[in-house]
Amino acid sequence: MKKVLVLEDESSIRSFIVINLRRAGYEVIEAETGEEALEKLEHHRDTRVALLDVMLPGIDGFEVCRRIRAGNANIGIIMLTARAQEMDKVTGLMTGADDYVTKPFSPAELTARVDALMRRSGGGSEANDGEIRQDPFLLNTRNRTLEKNGQRVKLTQVEYAIIKMFMENPGKALSREEILDMVWGRDYFGELKIVDVNIRRLRLKIEDNPTNPTYITTVWGYGYKWGF
Ligand code: CA
Repeated sequence: MKKVLVLEDESSIRSFIVINLRRAGYEVIEAETGEEALEKLEHHRDTRVALLDVMLPGIDGFEVCRRIRAGNANIGIIMLTARAQEMDKVTGLMTGADDYVTKPFSPAELTARVDALMRRSGGGSEANDGEIRQDPFLLNTRNRTLEKNGQRVKLTQVEYAIIKMFMENPGKALSREEILDMVWGRDYFGELKIVDVNIRRLRLKIEDNPTNPTYITTVWGYGYKWGF
């Protein structure tokens, strides 16, 4: 069963989300506070996607995200934000979320986002098992891991998908739309901005000097290129 955690303090919104996810075939774990969410995740370690409301009575959704991410790189995390200002904070803090949804959202939109993350965190069918080596990087597509100079780089599932896409397309300029399609899927409803947020975070992890990136280079007005 595919498990999703829903953290939302407002019970009407929570039920709305839970009902729709169950209808879509997910097993749903509910939490009303951040503390409860962290505790429940301890007991349900096979949870593959977490939906985290930002504004909560105790620790906020960003803090929950940070704590989840500290111990688990594989879980997909979607932030539920009430306002655009909160998204600025998501961008600014880059707490490790893979995606965000702004309230109010439709059931179809939410389910599509969860489906997309679920597909990536599934681990399932990799077409070409093995390794892609582009010094100083080594991508292992069986274990879904990345090493730089022999050192493991901890990646989220989305970051892994982005790196894999780049390493399979070295030297090719990829538009932000293409990246969104390849990484998030064609049925994805999100905004292009999420591409930039994830690439910025990825640069912090893999570039020698993130302010002057040499591996993931920007193609102005278009997108990005794996600069080999
Ligand atoms: Ca709330």
